[in-house]
Amino acid sequence: DIKTAVSEAVTNAIVHGYPDSIGKVVVKVRVCPENTLEITVRDYGRGIPDVDRARQPMYTTGGAERSGMGFTIMESFMDRLSVRSVPGKGTAVVMKKRLAPRLKAAK
Ligand code: ATP
Ligand code: MG
Repeated sequence: DIKTAVSEAVTNAIVHGYPDSIGKVVVKVRVCPENTLEITVRDYGRGIPDVDRARQPMYTTGGAERSGMGFTIMESFMDRLSVRSVPGKGTAVVMKKRLAPRLKAAK
């Protein structure tokens, strides 16, 4: 679900973006037309040298305690995932998901 995808992105920002420091993580949420939710998770940390490679399932630089499935999980729960990153400057992950309209409560 959405909270799992956001949690994966925030965890990445903390553990990979700032491996040995504490840094700023910004989460933005927008509701776009047609019930589309857009969530951006941004850090100003280390950045990703090869985004395509990092998005591959099981790719990790995190050692044995990480499985390398974070981006795959985000992709599976969201409709669209885009990752922009500049090494040394940071990473922005933008996730989009169209929400089903809420059913009207019965009276
Ligand atoms: P898991 O999420 O399964 O615990 P993981 O975090 O290594 O493992 P992914 O979330 O798929 O797997 O990320 C893959 C790799 O992309 C990471 O190992 C790391 O090298 C890089 N990465 C992801 N997010 C960031 C980020 N915000 N800043 C720097 N590198 C990142
Ligand atoms: Mg991860």
